[in-house]
Amino acid sequence: MKNEPANTSGTNPISMLRSTVRAIEPYVPILPFEVLADRLGRPIDEIIKLDANENLYGPSPLVRDALADLDFPHIYPDPENRALRNALSDFTGVPSENIFAGAGADEIIDLTMRLFIDQGDNIIDCPPTFGMYSFDASVNGAETIVIERKDDFTLDLEAIVEAVSVHSPKLLFLASPNNPDGGLISDEELRTLLALPIIVILDEAYIEFAGIENSRLDWVLKHANLIVLRTFSKWAGLAGLRAGYGAFPVELLKELWKIKQPYNVSVAATEAALVSLADSGNLLQVVSEIRSERKRLSQMLGGLPFVFPYPGRGNFVLCQVKGISASGLHQALSAEGILVRYFDKPRLRDHVRISVGLPQHTDILATVLSRIFNE
Ligand SMILES: *Cc1c(COP(=O)(O)O)cnc(C)c1O
Repeated sequence: MKNEPANTSGTNPISMLRSTVRAIEPYVPILPFEVLADRLGRPIDEIIKLDANENLYGPSPLVRDALADLDFPHIYPDPENRALRNALSDFTGVPSENIFAGAGADEIIDLTMRLFIDQGDNIIDCPPTFGMYSFDASVNGAETIVIERKDDFTLDLEAIVEAVSVHSPKLLFLASPNNPDGGLISDEELRTLLALPIIVILDEAYIEFAGIENSRLDWVLKHANLIVLRTFSKWAGLAGLRAGYGAFPVELLKELWKIKQPYNVSVAATEAALVSLADSGNLLQVVSEIRSERKRLSQMLGGLPFVFPYPGRGNFVLCQVKGISASGLHQALSAEGILVRYFDKPRLRDHVRISVGLPQHTDILATVLSRIFNE
């Protein structure tokens, strides 16, 4: 039996959709962890999930306690997120009047589009990179001008400069470290881009793994056209709770306040973020363990005959796979309960991205890989 309601109104609801929505490809959800485990016929705690750059070292133990003891889950959170913005100001050294809190960096990417995009405006995207920039552009009715990165995944600055003069795009999205290769943008590149008539959104989702000294968050105090995004999802292990933030020039942030949903960051996410900042010394210690493990993972992978890791700075390692199929490797690993990321995209079809796990995850991966390669 088909589950379709009778149309008694004489209208065609689908014809009323925004044309931008109709133009978007059908929704293909990412399978949740439980469903994947079920399909692979394994209990969830035997799956090694190295496909989404989550922090497998987990959140601060103080987060669980704090969430169990929430005082006011029945009361709406502060629309101005004052406590969190003040704590972020202490943590980053940027005044709280420059800081905005969101339900993950993803929410702020979308809000930034909503702030600037009129139907038909252009943005620049530099793939291979994080998929949300072009996704949110299409949702918000922007045209995406694609400036592919060079073979080594660095930015094609000349092409960006050219595209800015030809298409007058409003926004340029850049991740540093970039996902999926883990490369950083240099100061010189960023200065060149900031001199263009465009707003640069610098996404620092992984900056803690590169070393916080590589952050350009405080540049928003000197550049009226720079926005820097960060998140608690990766370094603080809060991906499931949705907490991120952005640093904005004050003039822009005044405008953003006008369009935000009042209760965008939940009481639970706010509390988890506050507790993480209070425990940041310990969390950053774990980040340094993850950096050591990244090195060990890269060395292990680099020792294999068909795998060529890139020297990335995030909590993941992008690898080119030669002589065997990357998608086949991805499949063979999933069959063993190890999930890595395969991108079915032109530049990445011979690559896989592997998140840094715990030392025992690296060890199991090494064993399974050597078995696969010896078959
Ligand atoms: C994971 C990731 C994010 C998502 O951050 P959330 O705070 O979880 O929304 C943003 N940018 C990049 C480049 C990422 O890889």
